[in-house]
Amino acid sequence: MRKIIITLDGYSGTGKSSTARIVSEKLGYTYIDSGAMYRAVTYHFLNENINLKDTQNIERILRNIKIKFRKGRTFLNGQDVEDVIRSMAVNQYVSQVAAISAVRVKLVQFQRKLGEEKGVVMDGRDIGTVVFPNADLKLFMTADMDIRVERRKNQLLKKGIKESFDDIRCNFIKRDKIDTTREDSPLMKAEDAVEIDTTDLSLNDQVNNIVKLAENLIYEN
Ligand code: C5P
Repeated sequence: MRKIIITLDGYSGTGKSSTARIVSEKLGYTYIDSGAMYRAVTYHFLNENINLKDTQNIERILRNIKIKFRKGRTFLNGQDVEDVIRSMAVNQYVSQVAAISAVRVKLVQFQRKLGEEKGVVMDGRDIGTVVFPNADLKLFMTADMDIRVERRKNQLLKKGIKESFDDIRCNFIKRDKIDTTREDSPLMKAEDAVEIDTTDLSLNDQVNNIVKLAENLIYEN
């Protein structure tokens, strides 16, 4: 039995993170939410009123940022930021921050370190293309825009957060555009990734399909 690296890239609202989390639990693997890292850095920059064009200052600040994951929650310099990094304020800026190369260099380094031991499922935008181009199993998830928005709206409602369909839709469109057109590591399907359109798939089906693909690799001789 060998340990593998599984990457899940794609758009928000496709069920990427939930799928990655459950797949990791079923395989006994570590789940790593790379989006949470970009969100944590964005939250910090917003709090500190950082000028996103001041690269020198950004590089200095990045040296002092420590991100950790514990029990499914994200910590920034020791503070639990899991809930605040999901706010609309962070949603508005995260793609601009994620387009800054200095930020990507720092976070990609951290992501690769976390993948050293293998036995990981990591979701994001550039995991199969840039972070782990030699990953054993790569998935790329898409879904119809309205379904994506509806899913996110319900997910937020479950947490007691009310956001309008239109606000979420606008934010998804804006982030998709920045993420797919940025110069450094744009969101795209890796050539060898399996594309999954989750529009008509239940979470259960998505998970089972991926676990089957993973087990074929884990138990192959
Ligand atoms: O996955 P999530 O929606 O939390 O990601 C938030 C944002 O972080 C994305 O819209 C994208 O701008 C950025 N991101 C990225 N590369 C990753 C993961 C996330 O650029 N690997």
